[in-house]
Amino acid sequence: MTGRQMEGRRVVLTGAAANIGGATADLLAAEGARLVIGDIDSRAAETAERLASQGADATFVRTDVSDAASMKALLDTAAETLGGLDVIINNAGIQRSSPVTEMDESVWDLHMAVNARSCFLAAKYGVPHLRHGHLPAIVNMASVGGFKAPAGLSAYSASKGAIIAFTRTLASELGPEGIRVNCVAPGWVDTPFNDPIVAHMGGRAAQDAAVRAGVPLQRQGQPSEIAAAMLFLASEASSFVTGHALVIDGGAS
Ligand code: NAD
Repeated sequence: MTGRQMEGRRVVLTGAAANIGGATADLLAAEGARLVIGDIDSRAAETAERLASQGADATFVRTDVSDAASMKALLDTAAETLGGLDVIINNAGIQRSSPVTEMDESVWDLHMAVNARSCFLAAKYGVPHLRHGHLPAIVNMASVGGFKAPAGLSAYSASKGAIIAFTRTLASELGPEGIRVNCVAPGWVDTPFNDPIVAHMGGRAAQDAAVRAGVPLQRQGQPSEIAAAMLFLASEASSFVTGHALVIDGGAS
């Protein structure tokens, strides 16, 4: 007994090329999880190779989370590689900024496909595996933007709001089977992901001013602080928590 929180737990994690997903992969591996990482960016292969070189069980499967065949292949491959599946973490996401009247329909559709549809696909193709898992759990990546986002992020906000609603409903559907479903809803986290909306706001100085004015803790979050919440919701520490959207925003909302 090592006391590690995820010892031997079999986990699929999407979107782990760097930043929040990278920090989550690091923390889960350090806590003993066995990981299959799905990402469209080959830098996520380097995440898996780095963890494997440190002695963790981590592999990479190139995946487009918006594509049904690709997601099914990720989940089936993971279950085969790991000998089953206990946890699915849907972290992959995109953000584009545009006033709604100037937004191409394809931008709206892309947000829905990559951010929201991916969570549906993970559930559709992953739950049959989780039904045989140990302490099964799903953690989706939402955002405080799913409640209300800055101007210019309507498609992003709508897709993250869909994730919150889907998470709550899926928790009701899967609760009787003992499968927990939660999401995290971060506020500002200091990664390049926000570059489009920061540009829309007028640059880093404008973002810093918005953070000072709107965040009681007076700073952005760090990827490791979101990873800690992912670990909590994926692990036995949250065994009586389901259907929850865990806001992590320094007090902004
Ligand atoms: P990031 O860009 O590093 O992470 C996104 C990941 O998703 C990347 O690894 C990327 O390659 C992957 N991805 C994108 N499209 C994909 C696709 N079609 N198929 C597979 N993988 C794909 O940025 P991040 O800041 O680490 O964000 C991670 C998640 O956290 C996102 O879902 C984002 O919406 C959410 N989030 C971020 C913030 C923030 O302030 N940074 C706040 C709230 C929520």
